[in-house]
Amino acid sequence: MAIDGPAGAGKSTVARAVARALGFTYLDTGAMYRTVALASTRGLDEAGALDIGFDGDAVMLNGEDVSGLIRTAEISERASVVANDPEVRRAMVAQQRLIIAGGDYVAEGRDVATVVAPDAEVKVYLTASPQERARRRAQDLGVDDVEAVARDLAARDERDQSHGRTIHEPAPGAVPLDTTGLSVDEVVGEIVERVKTVRA
Ligand code: C5P
Repeated sequence: MAIDGPAGAGKSTVARAVARALGFTYLDTGAMYRTVALASTRGLDEAGALDIGFDGDAVMLNGEDVSGLIRTAEISERASVVANDPEVRRAMVAQQRLIIAGGDYVAEGRDVATVVAPDAEVKVYLTASPQERARRRAQDLGVDDVEAVARDLAARDERDQSHGRTIHEPAPGAVPLDTTGLSVDEVVGEIVERVKTVRA
């Protein structure tokens, strides 16, 4: 199944929990763009030549666990920039399709429902109000200035709009789910039920 939507909508938290509830594997496509960004800070600019993958929950770059290194604000910004390079996208989408062909996956990211896995059995477009998204992201980052986070999110959404990525509306066939005011458990429960119904 595919989960997409804008930054701060709760995609990662929800996708991880849905995967656990269903016994599927979670694929964090954003982590792969973040890893390309990290590699570029080391002068490794050819995305197709990078060995990017997962070892359990760990994100691996050429055999190194980079899970912690890719979660900084600097890498968030840089990821959003490198993700606009068509070569980078081609390499990541090819790698993501290979990964999900190997089993039952909850794939999460802005283009999974449109480009990576348009034939997913269930597609969910997660969203939330801009204020709620900024509040959650500020909490994740441990910062108090929600207004500044809101501005960063808006700038990132603006940059993340091309290449078939869904930011402001659901992909064809995707179910919109507004998570404003809902708990993670409520959102997860709703998605799990939907998958079970489709698979029954
Ligand atoms: O989801 P996350 O914040 O980790 O993604 C980091 C960046 O990677 C996003 O801002 C976006 O630019 C890019 N991305 C993308 N397509 C995806 C996943 C992430 O372009 N499927």
